[in-house]
Amino acid sequence: MKIELIKGDITKIKADAIVNAANSSLLGGGGVDGAIHRAGGKQILDECIEIRNRQGKCKTGEAVVTTAGSLPAKYVIHTVGPVWNGDEEKSSKLLANCYQNSLRLAESLDVKTIAFPNISTGIYRFPKELAGNIAVDEVKKFNSDVIEKIIFVCFDDENEEIYRKLLEE
Ligand code: ADP
Repeated sequence: MKIELIKGDITKIKADAIVNAANSSLLGGGGVDGAIHRAGGKQILDECIEIRNRQGKCKTGEAVVTTAGSLPAKYVIHTVGPVWNGDEEKSSKLLANCYQNSLRLAESLDVKTIAFPNISTGIYRFPKELAGNIAVDEVKKFNSDVIEKIIFVCFDDENEEIYRKLLEE
């Protein structure tokens, strides 16, 4: 699997799947979630509402999939990152689950390229360095015959710098 780093807006990425750092309501929010719903259109929210009606809220660490609406991607994989509360062990496991479950779901959809934002490092205040370490570890650990490329999309300079160093190692 190839790993790439891009600085920019995930809604512009042409990948088979982009990942959304959603909240458990699946009904949209701020940050990257708001950007994806705004750029992708109402179809994404409609499918999120269908999922909610079927299964209820999405638990932290889990992932669900919808269309990408009018985005250049095929699918949006919505995963719910943990809100940082200082419990490093528990939060780290939950964040790792986000990456694992998103990758598993992507594989089941025959996704070849997938883009991740820096889950939980915005409104959810997860320490960026720790989150970056977890993201890169989980992706490197995930052996896939299906997924060919993983793109980390960093929006802010601090995350870009963290990922650049991590991926040089
Ligand atoms: P969370 O609630 O999981 O912390 P946020 O959306 O607040 O989610 O932040 C997650 C990360 O997404 C942050 O690093 C933020 O800078 C980044 N981000 C915000 N908007 C975009 C975007 N359009 N594309 C990619 N990343 C984004």
